[in-house]
Amino acid sequence: MVAPVLRLYNTLTRSREEFRPIDPDLVRMYVCGPTVYDYAHIGNARPVIVFDLLYRLLRQIYCTGHVKYVRNITDVDDKINARAAERGIDIRALTEQTNAIFQSDVAALNCLPPDVQPRATEHIAQMIEIIQSLIAQNHAYAADGHVLFSVPSMAEYGRLSRRPLDEMIAGARVDVAPYKQGDMDFVLWKPSAAQEPGWESPWGRGRPGWHIECSAMSWKHLGETFDIHGGGIDLVFPHHENEIAQSRCAFGHEVMANVWMHNGFLQVEGEKMSKSLGNFITIHDLLQSDTFGGRRWPGAVLRLAMLRTHYRQPIDWTLKGLEEAEANLRNWHEAEVVSAPEGAEIPAQILAALCEDLNTPEAISLIHALRKAGKARELKSVLMLMGLYAPDIFAKAGAGGAELSAEERSQIEAVIAQRLAARAAKNFAESDRLRDHLLAKGIVLKDNKDGTTTWEHKG
Ligand SMILES: [Zn+2]
Repeated sequence: MVAPVLRLYNTLTRSREEFRPIDPDLVRMYVCGPTVYDYAHIGNARPVIVFDLLYRLLRQIYCTGHVKYVRNITDVDDKINARAAERGIDIRALTEQTNAIFQSDVAALNCLPPDVQPRATEHIAQMIEIIQSLIAQNHAYAADGHVLFSVPSMAEYGRLSRRPLDEMIAGARVDVAPYKQGDMDFVLWKPSAAQEPGWESPWGRGRPGWHIECSAMSWKHLGETFDIHGGGIDLVFPHHENEIAQSRCAFGHEVMANVWMHNGFLQVEGEKMSKSLGNFITIHDLLQSDTFGGRRWPGAVLRLAMLRTHYRQPIDWTLKGLEEAEANLRNWHEAEVVSAPEGAEIPAQILAALCEDLNTPEAISLIHALRKAGKARELKSVLMLMGLYAPDIFAKAGAGGAELSAEERSQIEAVIAQRLAARAAKNFAESDRLRDHLLAKGIVLKDNKDGTTTWEHKG
């Protein structure tokens, strides 16, 4: 079969372009990951699902092992410090616990783990190195224990977001400070008080700004330039603009990444999601509690509900959408599909739809056509490619007896993750409580020497 042409919308050029990797033997993609201080909301799940689909598609085209996907974990941030203080717990305990929950939530959404999930706190040396290079090239300056990027030193600043200058200045003026030379200059490094996390640096004990974290981690794991950089549309300015400024000025290239991809906003039942409106939903709530629609939702249903809308469009997250997604999945998981052998070729039309800037609405309508035509083997292949194959959820009642459903398994994994976090925080009473909670359901845990926990169902 002839390899399909992949075309992706590039925010940098505001056009859909044929994708040509720098090195077809290793396609490299970076996506901004979570700041681990609280449960991820359903809007945060959108880039995770969208770029997981792209990762799967790239592996289909360039083959598994020839794609490197990096999604970072921001584990140093002022929001983390504030939350840890509020809860009266150790910063490390908070980030470990939050990250464990995030990993188990996105695994339940059938997202493959990225090849590398670097942590900001493990890349401080690279951040300092980039900052030193920027200072040496007059793109940054140190003042009062701070180091700032000098925006006027970069002629092409603003090329990604294309915002009018006065709008960018207005945005940057939010933090007026005496050590700032230019209104739009942004922080690369800042001093830490004794109780704040900090690292020794040429500018005293301090901590990095957020933007420099991604420049350092993408450099370490993907190189000075790479193929695709992704994230939510809210990251275009200032985060991605500033990542580009740092990396281009430090390394002297025309681009940081060739293709910049951004998913659209998410709202809930027609309204902006916010804590004050009471419509703030976390991935965890949808999977594990009855807060949305009075029931729990399987991860595959949430994933399909997300992919029904094209990733660049705004999405309205509704109960009706989830119900329709569930009905579709149920319809696609007929017995002949589940029992069909694996490995059928993906129908060319469906691959072509996905290759046209991830046209998932088109792919989904073609899936309906496959189902109608009774093409069980092909349907199974497509569902597997898109991370929508979830036979356990839709297994006929009675079949398998004491077998656990995917949903039950993901709940067990989530409790185990909470228990590991409790142990990391040396809260052994909570750890024992969670173990007994699972034991009551016939789940027996075994703690391994390497720090992992495995389980068995003695149902
Ligand atoms: Zn980033």
